[in-house]
Amino acid sequence: MPELGLIVQNALKARVAIPAFNVPYLPMIEPVIRAVVDQKSFALVETARLEWLKFEARGAEAVAKEFFRWQVPDHVRLHLDHIPVIDEDGQRVDYLEIIQQAIGLGYHSVMVDGSRLSLDENIAATRQVANSAHKAGLPCEAELGAVPGHEAGPLPPYDELFASGQGFTRVAEARRFVSESGCDWLSVAIGNIHGAVSEGYKDLKKIAARLDLEHLENLSQAVSIPLVLHGGSGIPREYVLASFQKGIAKINIGTEIRQVYESTLQSTGKVSKAQEAVYERTCWLIGEYFGLTNIQSMVTQKVS
Ligand SMILES: [Zn+2]
Repeated sequence: MPELGLIVQNALKARVAIPAFNVPYLPMIEPVIRAVVDQKSFALVETARLEWLKFEARGAEAVAKEFFRWQVPDHVRLHLDHIPVIDEDGQRVDYLEIIQQAIGLGYHSVMVDGSRLSLDENIAATRQVANSAHKAGLPCEAELGAVPGHEAGPLPPYDELFASGQGFTRVAEARRFVSESGCDWLSVAIGNIHGAVSEGYKDLKKIAARLDLEHLENLSQAVSIPLVLHGGSGIPREYVLASFQKGIAKINIGTEIRQVYESTLQSTGKVSKAQEAVYERTCWLIGEYFGLTNIQSMVTQKVS
């Protein structure tokens, strides 16, 4: 099997995206993997620091243990999502230590999120992480621009946010960022928003975000590496499918399967029922919504 970096490159060339599923509860891992295999697809299971602190994923080690228990290497890999340099509550994080630990645990790719830093500081932090990742043979994802939603409290009105383009990844900055930081994949802000994670907001239905597709195309042409769409839940299907044609090669999905797990667990009291609901929704997302059934053989082929 080729390395993950090559697989995501293949997805970019084929104009499809590798779905990456967040698992804020450990029992979500088994049904997600089963769905990916049954759909003959290829996906990432991913875990972010805030899911250890605000949900029940417990930590990089607990997630790795559960992942390697169920993994099917031809169909799934394990990604370390959002390790922020400054977190959603404004606290400095020992990001290098966490990322180094994950590399040691066998994660297949890592993300550093320096998006709350200045451009120069983000480049420096990402450069450092990309070097460590590359030494271990792993791809490194980074973020430039502001994908809002993880911070506490309500979002500013979405239509105003979109119309102003405030926080969107800028083309010239992206070009400089990628060439100087050495990152392999770039998470961009093009109208997408994260699902809320703070108390009082995390159960609300997510806003249907739009995407500035022309801007995405300009970014993709400027950097030519795979781009990542965070906040993939709740974006109308026509935008998502069009984004795969314009440079998005990895799409993160959190809220959609988290809320299914939580609401089914709450209504039935049974983890097994919640797992089945996650399985069904993951199959539906891969098949009906994103059209990513049967991509496994295409994205994992070795190209010389
Ligand atoms: Zn994200």
